[in-house]
Amino acid sequence: MSVIVVGAGVVGACCALTLVRAGYKVTLIDQSAPGSGCSYGNAGSISPGSIIPMALPGLWKKVPAWLFDKDGPLSVKWSYLPQAAPWLIGWLRSSSEEVANSSAAALTALNKNVMENYKNMIGPKAYSKLIKATGHLIVQKNKPTGYGDRFAASLREAYGVNIKELHGEEIRDLEPVVGPQFNYGIHMQDGGFTINPKKLVNALVESFIDAGGRFVMNQVRDIQADNNGMYAVTTRTGTIITNKIVIAAGAWSKRFLSEDKIKIPLETERGYHIMLHNHNVQPSLPVVAADYKFFSTPMEEGLRLAGTVEIAGLHAQPKWNRADMLLEHAKQVFPGLSAEGSSVWMGHRPAIPDSVPVIAESKSNKGVFYAFGHGHYGLSGAPNTAQIICDLVLGNKPEVNIEPYGLSRFQS
Ligand SMILES: Cc1cc2nc3c(=O)[nH]c(=O)nc-3n(C[C@H](O)[C@H](O)[C@H](O)COP(=O)(O)OP(=O)(O)OC[C@H]3O[C@@H](n4cnc5c(N)ncnc54)[C@H](O)[C@@H]3O)c2cc1C
Repeated sequence: MSVIVVGAGVVGACCALTLVRAGYKVTLIDQSAPGSGCSYGNAGSISPGSIIPMALPGLWKKVPAWLFDKDGPLSVKWSYLPQAAPWLIGWLRSSSEEVANSSAAALTALNKNVMENYKNMIGPKAYSKLIKATGHLIVQKNKPTGYGDRFAASLREAYGVNIKELHGEEIRDLEPVVGPQFNYGIHMQDGGFTINPKKLVNALVESFIDAGGRFVMNQVRDIQADNNGMYAVTTRTGTIITNKIVIAAGAWSKRFLSEDKIKIPLETERGYHIMLHNHNVQPSLPVVAADYKFFSTPMEEGLRLAGTVEIAGLHAQPKWNRADMLLEHAKQVFPGLSAEGSSVWMGHRPAIPDSVPVIAESKSNKGVFYAFGHGHYGLSGAPNTAQIICDLVLGNKPEVNIEPYGLSRFQS
């Protein structure tokens, strides 16, 4: 049985590794080196407790203010609005209590045991080099009291997220570099972060190759079923015949979905980072400034400030002021922050309106499996996504209820 996995981001790399360990002949294909897409520049947070969907009750009221604030956490390229409108409407619709609650349940199951799973996947040596079990810290100037925030807190409680609330100086006892104006914090105690997301993907791909897998750098152009129940995967340079295919091409998966009977609302939420190379402030764990909605993560190559959501599709040029804005906001969080030397990056989060990825077999093409749409939490959800995909490919019943990740939610 041969399987081709399209896309060597964190999701595809986990899928390929899990499938090769299950005994399949697996080829992992990416148009670039592994971990060059969205999995390259993220904030590195790995957290079983990252279960709060982006669309929360009360979202309707917040969006207009965000859109008209040029430094706000959400930006929409107006010329792209007609294309993005169905997704944006789906996103607003997902902000009901009912949908947000079922998304949190689905993300809880998906992120379970993520740290242990990575250790098992890349081995204890690479794990201790690349992953730190610090948890992460969310800070705010004051305890939030809005509808959405209260609802998020109730979800964390309902789904057993291990948190510690911090007040006033308790924040600086845990993380001294956070400014005194931040009076409320949540220490997400489980999980941690990777000091280098690209190296994490490389480590997964190395384990995959060690287990007998093959990585090919090439662009997949087309996928066609042949008459013998096999698939022809056309690349830039030729055609490969395979039994099964896993589409894990992140935000670019869309080009492979046109044949599906069901219209899957996959959009990209573009995000940015600015990496400060020589900086004078060093948090010991990732700090999320919830008032500004970005992460500051102490990485191998510097302090990475990452976040923001920009709806502008796959082809628009980056707007680097979105990355510069992160530095201005970080100066509000870490008093006296200065840096010499920085680099900026923009990446395409693959996003589904309800924040729950698609992990399912295609409705139209049996033997083609989908593993994309992990939005803001791809590092946390990738290992269990891979386990579900492996079970589906093998024809086994996955341990978790897969209904929430399926396609029926998109059928009206
Ligand atoms: C600013 C920012 C911060 C983030 N912070 C976090 C965080 O702290 N924690 C977290 O869990 N998540 C975070 N995320 C989200 C996370 O990065 C994504 O969910 C995750 O990387 C998605 O992985 P993926 O493998 O699905 O996609 P990608 O990493 O984008 O991989 C898709 C791959 O498919 C390849 N591909 C596409 N088309 C083709 C083709 N036709 N042929 C061959 N190859 C193809 C691409 O080259 C790419 O390598 C963040 C995202 C951003 C933007």
